[in-house]
Amino acid sequence: MSHDNDFPENHDALRTRTHARPRPAKKPLATQEGQRIPTRRADERAYPLETPGRSSEPRAPRAQVPTDSRAPYTRAPGKPHPSRSQTPVAQTSTSRPSKTVFAVAGACVALALVLFSVVHWQSTRPIDIMVNGQELQMPRTATVNDAFEAAGSPATAGNMLDIDGELLQEGSGTAYTATLDGHELDPSAAADTPLDGHTSIDFTNGVDVEEPSNVAENQPIAHGVQDVGHGPLHIVTQKGQDGSGTIKTGQVSGKQQVIEVTSDPVDTIMKRCYPDTQGEKVVALTFDDGPWDDTNELLDVLRDNGAKATFFTVGNRISGNGADTVKREVAEGHQVATHTWDHAAGDGQSVNLSYMSAEQQREEITKGFQAIEDATGQKPSFVMRAPGGNFPTEVWSNVEDLVVADIGWDVDTTDWKRPEASRIAAELMRVTPGDIVLMHDGGGNRKNTIEGLRIALPKLVQDGWKFVTIDELMKYPTKDS
Ligand SMILES: [Zn+2]
Repeated sequence: MSHDNDFPENHDALRTRTHARPRPAKKPLATQEGQRIPTRRADERAYPLETPGRSSEPRAPRAQVPTDSRAPYTRAPGKPHPSRSQTPVAQTSTSRPSKTVFAVAGACVALALVLFSVVHWQSTRPIDIMVNGQELQMPRTATVNDAFEAAGSPATAGNMLDIDGELLQEGSGTAYTATLDGHELDPSAAADTPLDGHTSIDFTNGVDVEEPSNVAENQPIAHGVQDVGHGPLHIVTQKGQDGSGTIKTGQVSGKQQVIEVTSDPVDTIMKRCYPDTQGEKVVALTFDDGPWDDTNELLDVLRDNGAKATFFTVGNRISGNGADTVKREVAEGHQVATHTWDHAAGDGQSVNLSYMSAEQQREEITKGFQAIEDATGQKPSFVMRAPGGNFPTEVWSNVEDLVVADIGWDVDTTDWKRPEASRIAAELMRVTPGDIVLMHDGGGNRKNTIEGLRIALPKLVQDGWKFVTIDELMKYPTKDS
């Protein structure tokens, strides 16, 4: 049986009582104090009086037991119980301030932890945002570009255009157009714009951008060439002159654009026209690609018929016998002009000056003139015939200061195909006043050409026709048709 520790001061008395009489089951203190005492039987009240050696004084009511008297039995073992003689006030005055400090500090730490947790939660919790009508959950630190990728790249990039607006690089424009909460973002800063604090973003296709470019002032503005009219005489009637102004140059395309004109360029005007002999039976016979082996025989035929002609020579043929032939041509009143230095061989493929570089084009012409001057000791005629008859405007703009006129033709005998002499003669017989006739003294066997002339010229002379040089023909007025 356990001790009854509730009332140690009555221990002996209780034990004595236990031996004397079975004790009723113990009730909770509250019950004992509040209920049992008032209802105690008369014999129970008599126990203390019957106990031998005990004071006859009535037992103090349990309710009078000082509360402090029980304190030592509820303290932790080993801890000394403060003496009742110690002043409780003095003890309280040394412990209460430290408890308060600790309590306040603890509260502060707890509050700080709570605040930190709230802030951390706020900063790291995902955000919900509508991307092109689709609700996405994104990290709070996400950017516009993150949303673009998370939404599956819902827009197509623009392109890079050159300064003329032509497509230069596909997909090199802005990646997308982003509208954040109804506000369209600057494309250059859109990608890194944070999403936090916003509720919706819409992506539409990127826009085209123009290539980077440079702008320079006081730059030459190249003049153009106007190719006007019809006819075998191709005469420069107005020399071109470059202008100046502000030029924009595309850094990728290299294209140039005139932004502002300081002085206007003046176009070259290359006019095609006809000599107007007003019905006079005048014809210009022309021979290309010589001098050649048969040129002297051809010169004999012309001489015998009192006919003058124009020879468009190939410069690199004018040496040795060729130089002598050219001298004879000049001596007998013919006109010697150039058909270029080597018939636009090499890069020109022997047919077209425009296949050559600008520098080569000029050399072809100047060396052709020089070869004639070297052979004859005289300045040549500054008209020419372009190889293949090809003299596009871009060549004109490059050589217009070297050449007075390019000479075409009205009648093509196609003698270079070596048709029968009678067919060449027949072509010659159909000339009209002011015609320029194309034939060849070089480039191969020209026996048929010579024979055709031998047939036709006497008949034409008899019929009143006169054969003049190009220079003589160009003294006539011109007409447009
Ligand atoms: Zn030719």
